[in-house]
Parts: sequence; structure tokens; C-alpha cells
Amino acid sequence: MQENTTNVNNKPTLNFIEEIVETDIQNSKNGSRVHTRFPPEPNGYLHIGHAKSICLNFGLAKKYNGKCNLRFDDTNPTKEDVEYVDSIREDVKWLGFNWDGEYYASDYFEQLYEWAIQLIKIGKAYVCDLTQEQMSAYRGTPTKPGTESPYRSRSIDENIDLFTRMRNGEFPDGSRVLRAKVDMSSPIMHMRDPILYRIIHTDHHRTGNKWCIYPMYDYAHGQSDSIEGITHSICTLEFEVHRPLYDWFIKTLEIHAPQQIEFARLNISYTLMSKRKLLELVNEKYVSGWDDPRMPTICGIRRRGYTPESLRNFAELIGVAKRDNVIDIALLEHCIREDLNKKAMRVMTVLNPLKVVIDNYPDTTEEMDAINNPEDETAGSRKVPFSKVIYIERDDFMEEPSKKYFRLSPGNEVRLRYAYFIKCESFVKDENGEITEVHCSYDPASRGGNSPDGRKVKGTIHWVSAQHAVDIEVRLFERLFNAYDPENYPEGGSYKDNLNPDSLKVINNCKAEPYLKNVAVLSSYQFERLGYFCVDQDSKDGKMVFNRTVSLKDSWAKIEKKEEK
Ligand code: ATP
Ligand code: MG
Repeated sequence: MQENTTNVNNKPTLNFIEEIVETDIQNSKNGSRVHTRFPPEPNGYLHIGHAKSICLNFGLAKKYNGKCNLRFDDTNPTKEDVEYVDSIREDVKWLGFNWDGEYYASDYFEQLYEWAIQLIKIGKAYVCDLTQEQMSAYRGTPTKPGTESPYRSRSIDENIDLFTRMRNGEFPDGSRVLRAKVDMSSPIMHMRDPILYRIIHTDHHRTGNKWCIYPMYDYAHGQSDSIEGITHSICTLEFEVHRPLYDWFIKTLEIHAPQQIEFARLNISYTLMSKRKLLELVNEKYVSGWDDPRMPTICGIRRRGYTPESLRNFAELIGVAKRDNVIDIALLEHCIREDLNKKAMRVMTVLNPLKVVIDNYPDTTEEMDAINNPEDETAGSRKVPFSKVIYIERDDFMEEPSKKYFRLSPGNEVRLRYAYFIKCESFVKDENGEITEVHCSYDPASRGGNSPDGRKVKGTIHWVSAQHAVDIEVRLFERLFNAYDPENYPEGGSYKDNLNPDSLKVINNCKAEPYLKNVAVLSSYQFERLGYFCVDQDSKDGKMVFNRTVSLKDSWAKIEKKEEK
């Protein structure tokens, strides 16, 4: 959208990152190489925002014949875990990307340590004993310069000695840090003697107990990029203010200089994208897990039934923006509808069954021809059994129909999809006044759902033969959050106040045509008139469970139409 629309000649224009990359190639910068990386911290599962970053980084490498690494930014052992590493690898692969190198910032701990020693030796780093509170008081404010730490003038020898002993585990957590000696009066807060190392006596998921000092993000990230020969280090806007520091380390250490480029992070309406908060939702059991189909995580939306193609297409459509914006969730839903419309087989299921007896139909079974996918000829057709007793949706019958109601009602005729015209002759109610059974007659000449004499019926409804039906469980989802921006809550509240209490509805004993008796987990179907559904991993022992991926109503198409006017 915005910043990479097509121009008048209908040739796609470049987004601003592609422009930078192409200029660099033309100027033979880095020998015209393009090497990007996707650098997640393994402290949670990836979400759709990460998918955007993955498509961008891997997409650039592909477009410019370059490379893209997967690098785990694993510098904080207290929050990280192999569970997350494994899930990240799986999600990137599932999205359809293969990384050129798989690296870990922890692989560089020794090199980073040596560079820290080097910084100390050239008088550019020192061990500081200020407490956290003191340090933030000394840091000043954006409008007030900071104050230099009394430890800033320690001798090189003393710094080397203390830093070595920090590494050797002689000091407790939080007692000392290593800081860069940059400029305490810099208008850029990140340049006011940032911390390079802190003491954390915690085992690391890869390096075990080898280290008890760990590098900070700012110190580890740029140097890791440099070690890997990254040319374009793409990150989100909040790192713009870190860029001077990124460049300072590279320059001071005189090592290969990648270029940091920032773009706007993806925000989606009614959606929260922060690993920390998503972790809270999991831990506090607001959802069933990271892969709960209501979660914006990649594993959640995969379980929901989204396809990699639909996510890649979404990333393409939203483009790359330089300023923060919010993307309408309807666009994401539009992308999966478009994809499944082409791919998903159509089937008939009844979520809220009402029994219909066709009194003049013989006690036999017939097989009706049903088209598997009108959008895809190669999908062919199948046979659907039809018999005297069928189920229809309760909603498709009305005792006293309103004016525009064209479905089944007393005396009215409707078309059963792929089968016959039926007409309601009578119905039965139980003692509570609930309709339990509808009696109909059928017209044998309307077989296949075709009018025998040109007479018109306005309504077409779906059905399932009762004797052939299989019971399925269906899970319907609404938005996890009621608020357009879940982070927007009144003072003293929490984003959790914006959770939608009705985001999950489970319906048991829905009726499905026999085709769905045993279908593969993650396969997708269009339940005619009801939406796209995907087989859930909870399916077992012949009882299939389906998640509704998305309904059929495309609100994005509506929005687009309005914009065109
Ligand atoms: P979160 O705030 O959700 O924890 P993060 O930025 O801390 O996300 P990282 O693992 O550090 O997560 O991110 C890996 C990469 O993904 C980074 O380059 C980051 O900029 C990018 N990224 C994270 N969130 C988004 C988003 N919403 N849109 C686009 N890119 C994102
Ligand atoms: Mg982070």
C-alpha cells in the first residue's frame, strides 16, 4: 500500500529499502553483495509482525540474489529457551523460507569478550560500580546532560582486572557492569556510556555455565551483524535511536560495517503484538497456549488455518512503511479468503441441526454429484449421499418468515443444494415450543437442484443426510480483543481489560457429510455458506474437530469499494 504502490506504467515501484539496496549494488558497496538476517530473540513464539520481517529479509535476499541468515539473538539467558528456538525454526520454514546460515549470538561470546577487552585497552570501556538507581540518576534526561560516573576514570589495568574477575564469577549479579566510554552529555541517551555487559549467574540454553557475564543487545547485535558480513541490517523503527551507537561500536572496533535500516513495525487492528504480553496470556491461561487459534502467533494462525501463501501475500500487500500505522485486520482475512477460495474443497456441514423428513421420498439412498471447487476445475466432483431424513441449519427454517426470508417456511419451496426442491408441509414442536422436526415433500423432477418447469425457488440451502452424517466438533472464533487498539485502556487498567470474553464458541455434534470422517490435520475446507474451516490437531478417534479460519463475508472488499468511490 502506501509506500510501494504501482506507478502509472503499472510497473511496481521500489520500496525505500529496495531503493537503498539497489543504489548500494550500483555503487559496488560491499562488492555489490546483499546479505540480510532475521534476528529473533528466542524468548517467545513468533507473531505476524515477525512474519512481516521474515518476508522482508528473506525476500530481499531472494530478489537480489543474496543471502539471509537466521540468527538467534540469545544474549539473555533468564528469558530464553530451546523450546522457542525450535518453534522459530519451524515457523520460518513453514512460511516457506530457507536460511543460508543458522547462527547464535552466543557463538560470538568469546569474540565479543575479546572486543570488550580491546575497548578497555583503548580507553573506550570501563567497569562501573554504580547501583542501578544511581546509574539512572547519573544518566540525566533528554534535555539535561548526564553526570560522569566516578568509576569512569579507572585505569586500564584496573578495568582489565575487574572485567576478568567479572567473567570469572567473583562478583554477584548486579554488582558491577562494563560500560562504553562515549559521551555523558550526548543529546542521544543511548550514547551516554551504555552498558556492554552485566553479571547474570544463570545457565544459558547453549553455553551452559560457561559464562556469567552476558552482553547487552546493543553491544551484541551490530557486532554479530558484522561478523556475519551482513550488508543491510533491517530492524524496526524503535532502533533508530540506537543507530549512532550501532555505528560507534563498528567504527571504534574498525570492523566490517553493515548499514542499519529501520522500517515501521506491523500493527494490526484488534491485535496485540508483543511476545511479553502474549506470554502473559499463555501463562495466565487466557488462551490454551501459544498455538491457540485466536493468537496472532504464527503457530496460532497456522492452526487456525492460514496458509503460508496468504501470509506472504499479506506482507507483500502492506508493503514497507517508514512511519507507524495500523493495518485493518480485514485485509489479513481477505488474504486467507482469496487463497482458500482457490484451494479449498467445498463440503456440506450443518452446525445447528434441524431434522427434516421428506415424506414422499422412498426408503433408499441416492448419490448426488457435488462440485468440489467451482474455482478449480481440476478439483473434480464427488458423490454425496441423500436420503429421506436430512439435517438442515435451524436458521434455515422459520415458522413465521419475515418478508425477505426465502429459505424454508410452511408452504414454501427451497432448493437443496445438488439435490431436489423440497416444500414444507408441516412441522412438529415439543412441549417447550421448540421445533423438533419439519416434514416436507420433494419434486423428483428437480433432481440435481434444477427446475423442471422453469418455476423459480429463491432459496438454496445446504443439508446432510441423517443416516450418513458424521458428528464433528466445530470451534468458532471471534476477535481475542474487543478494542481496535488493545493497548488503549483507561488509566489503572490493563490490556487484558480489552479481552473479548466471547472469543471462543465450541459447538458439539455438528453434522457433516461422510467425506469429512477422516481428513488430515491442517487441511482446509469451505463449509458451504458457513466459512473456511481447518482440521484441528485435537481431532481423534473418528471425531474430527474443525476451526473456523474465517467466515465467507469479506469486509475488506467492502472497504475497498468504498475507497474507490
Ligand atoms: P516483541 O516486541 O514482540 O517481543 P521483538 O522486536 O522484541 O518483538 P525480536 O525477536 O527481537 O522481537 O524480533 C526479531 C525481528 O523481528 C526484529 O528485527 C524485529 O524488529 C522484528 N519485528 C518484531 N516485531 C515486529 C513487528 N510487529 N513488525 C515487523 N517486524 C517486527
Ligand atoms: Mg526484543
